[in-house]
Amino acid sequence: MFRKCPRKYYFRYLQGLKVPASGPMVQSRAWHAAVERNYRQKVDTGIDLPLAEMEDYFVYRLEDALDKEEVNFAGEDDLASLRDQGLAIVAAHHKTIAPKVRPALIEHKFTISLGEDFPYELTGVWDVVEEDGTIADNKAYKKPPTQTKLDEDLQFTIYSLGYRVSLGKIEPGLRMDAVIKDTPPRAMQLTTSRTNADCRRLLGIIEEMVKDISSGNLPPNPKGWWCSPRFCGYWGSRCMEGYSRRSRKPDFLGEIIFRKCFYADDRYR
Ligand code: SF4
Repeated sequence: MFRKCPRKYYFRYLQGLKVPASGPMVQSRAWHAAVERNYRQKVDTGIDLPLAEMEDYFVYRLEDALDKEEVNFAGEDDLASLRDQGLAIVAAHHKTIAPKVRPALIEHKFTISLGEDFPYELTGVWDVVEEDGTIADNKAYKKPPTQTKLDEDLQFTIYSLGYRVSLGKIEPGLRMDAVIKDTPPRAMQLTTSRTNADCRRLLGIIEEMVKDISSGNLPPNPKGWWCSPRFCGYWGSRCMEGYSRRSRKPDFLGEIIFRKCFYADDRYR
């Protein structure tokens, strides 16, 4: 989140402002929960759950979330389309990807120290670690990610660094288990790799981020797909109102007020 939009990070993690999840986010969470349920039992049984059981669990988790929380529906999203598309995603993953996966660790959290001179820890969660140590991430996309994007994805570098530091060895593989939301959805497995140099570069990026957070350098970044009413719950009076919608350039006065508020808050001094 920080790399996409530092101001969004500020709202969510420094101000603690939670905003309703979007429909696709809730759909994705319910699908993840169904995949997790299957893999957890597969560690012991070695067999995938029947598709019908996974579909039922997906619908239960989706409806439960919609009952209990406010959801930001936008555009063409509604419960029926999210459910139908989600069921097709569950089926595509169950048919093409799940049979090839030999899970050993599921939703496993790791925490590593970043050194004596740097008083922070890095925490992450591996979706799946297979019996041979391959780390896999499950994601549903609108369009397939390019290989370049996957090779530069910092999430995989974090997985790799976490594995190397906590287990003292190099992971045998990194893989994206992706479902593309076509009609019908397509499942694909994409691989990538990281070097120690990539992990060192990540440490440099983390150091820069910590400096930015400590100094209050948290500018809005409205130049990407994530900056829209559909994908950012802070859009509107909290954020974009202070910016020119046409040029999407920061409003000078809005920026001065933001900085005054940031430094007036003792937590960030
Ligand atoms: S509305 Fe745009 S600039 Fe503002 S926090 Fe969200 S993504 Fe960032």
